[in-house]
Amino acid sequence: MERELHRLEAMARQLDPDAAVRHEMTRQAFEFADHFVASLAERPTYRANAACPDLAAFRPEDTAGSIREILDVLEREVLDTGINPASGGHFGYIPGGGIYPSALGDFLADVTNSYSGVYFASPGAAVMERSLVRWMADLVGLPPGAGGDLTSGGSIANLAAVVTAREACGIRARDVEHNVVYLSGQTHHCVDKALRLAGVGDCVIRRVAMDKSWRMDPAALAQSAAADRAAGLRPWMVVASAGSTDVGAVDPLGAIADVAAEHRLWNHVDAAYGGFFLLTSAGRQRLAGIERADTVVLDPHKGLFLPFGSGAILARDERQLAAAHYYTADYMQDARDAGGVFSPADLGPELTRPFRGLRLWLPLKLLGLAPFRAALEEKLLLARYFRERLVQIRGFEPGPAPDLSVVTFRYHPAHGDIETHNKALLQAVHRDGRYFISSTQLDGQYTLRFACLHVRSHRREVDGLLALLEQTAARIESG
Ligand SMILES: *Cc1c(COP(=O)(O)O)cnc(C)c1O
Repeated sequence: MERELHRLEAMARQLDPDAAVRHEMTRQAFEFADHFVASLAERPTYRANAACPDLAAFRPEDTAGSIREILDVLEREVLDTGINPASGGHFGYIPGGGIYPSALGDFLADVTNSYSGVYFASPGAAVMERSLVRWMADLVGLPPGAGGDLTSGGSIANLAAVVTAREACGIRARDVEHNVVYLSGQTHHCVDKALRLAGVGDCVIRRVAMDKSWRMDPAALAQSAAADRAAGLRPWMVVASAGSTDVGAVDPLGAIADVAAEHRLWNHVDAAYGGFFLLTSAGRQRLAGIERADTVVLDPHKGLFLPFGSGAILARDERQLAAAHYYTADYMQDARDAGGVFSPADLGPELTRPFRGLRLWLPLKLLGLAPFRAALEEKLLLARYFRERLVQIRGFEPGPAPDLSVVTFRYHPAHGDIETHNKALLQAVHRDGRYFISSTQLDGQYTLRFACLHVRSHRREVDGLLALLEQTAARIESG
């Protein structure tokens, strides 16, 4: 037995490399990362029709590999396919970010592996996250009793909001279909998904009318809620968008809060895209009224330029979040003494989870808030700049002035079908690959969209995209 233990230990110890091995693998990984960042200007933002890797390329085997080979596979089979979300040429969907100091936070969180889910296990990690949540609640303007949880993203945060609203409003399975949710045509699809996941997919879903800039019409909301109540239904929840993903429209949050108060609706604001514009004065004006929400979703991996994997749910009353998520078990009895505060595991669906606070806290402390504020102001201005320049190019017609940093537009050719031309234009931009934009349907019309939220998008990238659009549109039109 002792010989066997010895043999197994020698093998098992490979899982815990010594300093020399660690330093070498870290050096190579660091050089790889450094080269990646340095080469971003030459890398495409989008690679159309890249050969798709087969499953076998990634399959683990019994034998060890080298870090060199592994990094080669990463480069070849992953980084060279699809959209490059680290590129400042990314103007599609809602661009992500990936600020470098956040990666250091992840690195340190992974190496130290603090157990952030439970206060007892790591009071420091739990309180760091609490402090970050408090900072966000202050940014939104929520009262002292507010609380929240750092999630993996906006979809999960919206799910936590729906579950919290369900529990707070006492909706049981048998009365789901008498409850009404008010969304708009611009509500993110993850809210519909969350309703289904939360077991309330059979509730009545009303799509409230919007104005010409795709903002929810509060008068229509009030009318609809009154009609539903008169018909014996129960108006339950309104979901306002504070920056819709599609066109960046900010619903009139104050007026919606008035209607919510009058009709006793749960007032949820999905600010996954737009929430951190609260750091700017223009954003604070646009998002006025958000402080009256019952629950709010923010996405640091959008508005704070973090790498993917960071969302947040905030609740005006922390106890309501806990009422929806708190649970305990006998084997958790030692962990119950939480110093009088809730742990992240009490406020969200996860128990063991990554120490998400560090990827957020490290860059905020290291860089200070000022550069984040400046970058967000820059994106708002770049969106206006893009729209102003686009109008000057013959044939291009932009949609409404942006509430935040999304601009929609269409190219109107002198002859021929508009939709056909715009599809060809998008395809040509994708084939070129230096910049990435995406398309949508607005009032049944094929429409192109420019979404500016990438940390590496500056005036030069916007000018480059404008030039590409101008040349490409002209080329397509001349056949
Ligand atoms: C991105 C987004 C979501 C979904 O968030 P994920 O982080 O992608 O899960 C929800 N709502 C809005 C408004 C968004 O922009």
